[in-house]
Amino acid sequence: THFGFKEVPEEQKEGLVGSVFSSVASSYDVMNDAMSLGIHRIWKDSFVSSLLPRLPPSLHQNQIPGSSTEAREPFRCLDVAGGTGDIALRILDRAREKFNSRDIQVEIVDLNQGMLDEGRKRVAKTLYYNTPQITFTHGNAQSLPTHIADNSIDLYTIAFGIRNCTSLPAVLSEAHRVLKPGGKIGVLEFGKVSNPLFKEIYRQYSFQFIPIMGKILAGDSESYQYLVESIERFPSQPEFAQLMRNAGFQTGQLREGKGGAWTDYTNGIATAWTGVKA
Ligand code: SAM
Repeated sequence: THFGFKEVPEEQKEGLVGSVFSSVASSYDVMNDAMSLGIHRIWKDSFVSSLLPRLPPSLHQNQIPGSSTEAREPFRCLDVAGGTGDIALRILDRAREKFNSRDIQVEIVDLNQGMLDEGRKRVAKTLYYNTPQITFTHGNAQSLPTHIADNSIDLYTIAFGIRNCTSLPAVLSEAHRVLKPGGKIGVLEFGKVSNPLFKEIYRQYSFQFIPIMGKILAGDSESYQYLVESIERFPSQPEFAQLMRNAGFQTGQLREGKGGAWTDYTNGIATAWTGVKA
C-alpha cells in the first residue's frame, strides 16, 4: 500500500469505479452541487485560475521566424478523469474571457462512457461545440491512449479522479511522460482537514449526510458510501506531494500555501497540488 492507500485488485476496482460513475453520470452535476453546497465550483475556479495565472504560449512553438502568431501551436491541455467537463470548460472560458484567446485546446480523457456522453451533451450547448478546442477520449489515466505522445502536453489536470485509480504512481508517471519539459501538472482532490473540530463536523457530514443525499437524489447510497470511503483512504497532503516528487515532478516545499507544494481549500476538504516536469 502507499501510505495506507488500500490496494484493490485492478479489474475489481475499475469495474467498481465504472459502475459507480455509470449509475451517477446523469445526476452527477446536480449531486456535486448538492453535496458540496455549491462549493466545488469555487474550488474548481481557484484551481484553474492558479494553473493559468496568465496564458503562457505553448512550450514548443512551431514558429517560423518573422511570421505572425498564426503559426503558433495551440496551448495543449489534457484533463484526465475529466468527466462532464467541469475543468475543461473552465480552462477554455478563462482563456477566452480573461485572455481573449481561443488558441488553446483541451482533451478530456475518462474511463466512463456515461460521463463522456454527459460531457458531450453539455459542450453541445457551448460555443466550443464542434471546434478542435475540446475533444473527448475514452481512456485510462494509468495508461493513457497511445495517440497522446510523450512530451506533447503543456498542462495536465486531474480533478477528483485520481483517488479512484488503482495505482497513484502509475497515473503520475503517465502524466510525467506526456507533459512537455516545463509543463505543469495540477491535481485537485479531497485532502485531509487539519482543524480537529472542523474535521469531526466534516466526518459526520460525509458519513451520514452524503449517503442519505445520494439515496434521495440519485436513488443510490452505496456509490456515495464508496466515494466517502475513497476520500478517507487517499494519502495526506505531504504524502501525495512526495508521490509527485517520486514521479519526477518539481514541487514547492513540503508545506501548504505560497511556495509550498499544495494549497488547501476549505480547511483541506479539497487540496490542489501542483508540480512542474523538470
Ligand atoms: N473531473 C471531473 C470533475 O471534477 O467534476 C469529474 C470527477 S468524477 C468525481 C471522477 C471521474 O474519474 C469519473 O468521470 C470517472 O469515470 C473517472 N475515472 C475514474 N477512474 C479513472 C481512470 N483510471 N482513468 C480515467 N478516468 C477515471
